[in-house]
Amino acid sequence: MTRIAFLGLGHMGLPMAKNLLAAGHEVIGFDVVSAAVDAAAAAGLPVAQFGVDAVAGAEVVITMFPAGKHVIAAYENELLGAADPGTLFIESSTIAVDEARVAHALAIEAGHRNIDAPVSGGVVGAENGTLAFMVGGSDEDFAAALPLLEAMGKRIVHCGGPGLGQAAKVCNNMILGISQIAVAEAFVLGERLGLEHQALFDVVSQASGQCWSITTNCPVPGPVPTSPANRDYQPGFAGALMAKDLGLALQAIEGTGTDAQMGRLAQQIYATFAAGPGAARDFSGIITDIRDAS
Ligand code: NAD
Repeated sequence: MTRIAFLGLGHMGLPMAKNLLAAGHEVIGFDVVSAAVDAAAAAGLPVAQFGVDAVAGAEVVITMFPAGKHVIAAYENELLGAADPGTLFIESSTIAVDEARVAHALAIEAGHRNIDAPVSGGVVGAENGTLAFMVGGSDEDFAAALPLLEAMGKRIVHCGGPGLGQAAKVCNNMILGISQIAVAEAFVLGERLGLEHQALFDVVSQASGQCWSITTNCPVPGPVPTSPANRDYQPGFAGALMAKDLGLALQAIEGTGTDAQMGRLAQQIYATFAAGPGAARDFSGIITDIRDAS
């Protein structure tokens, strides 16, 4: 049994913390929003009144915050100073690679340990304990974190040193954003050429154009009954989150001087999508924008 402080009890954090509790760990949760703390307490999670209270005496501190600025501010302002020496900080929010490395350096300077362990799999994966974790950090810290990550996820990959979990996440989601646009464009092109959705699906899902964006997240209703297109694009994975992740991809593209033209274009397309109602819709809803503009 490990004593764990879990900070950030939002859509992802609360179900993740509950899975750790169910696995027999001692978990104390905290969130800066009192409604989130109340919801966690109502769900049976022990909660602290302040972040520093949750962290004091914890062997592991897990953070699941909206963005990198929240992580760095919380690390600097209170968490690192309140933790016992040598505490393992597991940072699971999706943040920039550079921010993950800053957070890592701050934790090490303060005498602690740190890994970046962003996730994919969404709220359903968090609830079912089937998340994928992409981990950056030392072999020792990865090994120490593994049993906890296994309580929350089913696929855990050690990607390399500090920041490389976030690097893998940003690369994956750049592929995802680009491929979802490609599939949507193909369906709209097919419509205009007189091709039935089902016929195009039957070909592409078994041909070289096959990808998750068509076989699981098919952007038209019908061929994949569980895809968000069948429920008016209720997420799923919201456009706002895809726009955020592609913003992180753009940051990495610019920081490394990578000639990633498709990644840049996908970032622009999803930034526009998420500036309107697309923010709250599944990102496969991009097909409606493409259809409207055609
Ligand atoms: P969310 O906004 O629902 O939850 C984040 C929580 O962190 C909020 O309740 C907020 O009040 C809290 N918080 C912020 N600063 C804090 C602090 N200093 N101390 C304590 N709590 C603090 O967001 P979410 O959907 O749970 O996502 C969390 C992270 O996971 C994000 O980085 C997101 O990009 C990533 N992610 C989300 C999904 C998804 O489907 N929702 C999927 C994969 C990854």
